[in-house]
Amino acid sequence: MPRFSGKTVIITGSSHGIGRCVALMFAKETANVTITGRNAQRLQETKDLILSSGVSECHLNSVLGDVTTSEGQDELIKTTLDKFGKIDILVNNAGASIMDISGPTGVDQSMDIYHKNMQLNLQSVIEMTQKVKPHLMETKGEIVNVSTIGAGPHAQPDFLYYSIAKAALDQYTRSSAIDLIQHGIRVNSVSPGIVVTGFIGAAGLEYESARKFYEKLASNKQWIPAMVAGKPEDIGNVILFLADRKLSSYIIGQSIVADGGSTLVMGVDFGAAMQ
Ligand code: NDP
Repeated sequence: MPRFSGKTVIITGSSHGIGRCVALMFAKETANVTITGRNAQRLQETKDLILSSGVSECHLNSVLGDVTTSEGQDELIKTTLDKFGKIDILVNNAGASIMDISGPTGVDQSMDIYHKNMQLNLQSVIEMTQKVKPHLMETKGEIVNVSTIGAGPHAQPDFLYYSIAKAALDQYTRSSAIDLIQHGIRVNSVSPGIVVTGFIGAAGLEYESARKFYEKLASNKQWIPAMVAGKPEDIGNVILFLADRKLSSYIIGQSIVADGGSTLVMGVDFGAAMQ
């Protein structure tokens, strides 16, 4: 029997990128899946992708909404419970580096940009965790958060507010994991490196610039030793592992890095400097 058969999963930010891929992976393993995002067309594309893989509509719940709003969060939870009757797994994946690409840089970035980054990358996760907690207590469920290697320990002045939001998210993962395990709920996280998605586009780069960005990174072993940018599946496999209690039951409050080796060579590369 597929390992997530009969499980109900909410995946935030599943209208694109890693979330879309993860929704498809869970659906193929016969989970009931709630997909969501703000962009109606992209959300429909995720829905079509899942249905065209042979999954029946009765296993799929699609919710158009903004996960940073109380109404968006409530709608996600309510429609999931209405359709599937329970929640087993929450994947807090929605996230973005919200930037004013032509505005000030570094510490001069506006407080508006700061608040938007915190609201999406940290606060929405906290709010979703609070709201889903009673339902996960009933099912002894799992939460998987999506962080980033940009959370530290290296400085990220270009992605300043995004990276501090995700650094705070990492501490939230650890602390919420210890609080929630007493109720049987497991919390863990994945920290992706460079993955080809809409992420760079959402940060304001046009398609061609984004393509060159990924190409340039992957061509330099000092940035990505594996010399290939990650695919959403590379992160999806970690998320499904962390959501699978049989495989990862003794992992509590951890973040698994999946980055092609980037974090091991960030900073001064003495080997390269000697060549
Ligand atoms: P994408 O831009 O491809 O996908 C982001 C998803 O988040 C979309 O479905 C988007 O949907 C959704 N989203 C963004 N803002 C909101 C909002 N306010 N309300 C609801 N949904 C929202 O990027 P990725 O797939 O790469 O990003 C997924 C996660 O991975 C993020 O948390 C990101 O920080 C993390 N990550 C990505 C890396 C990468 O290199 N790609 C590296 C490290 C971490 P919509 O636009 O329809 O609202």
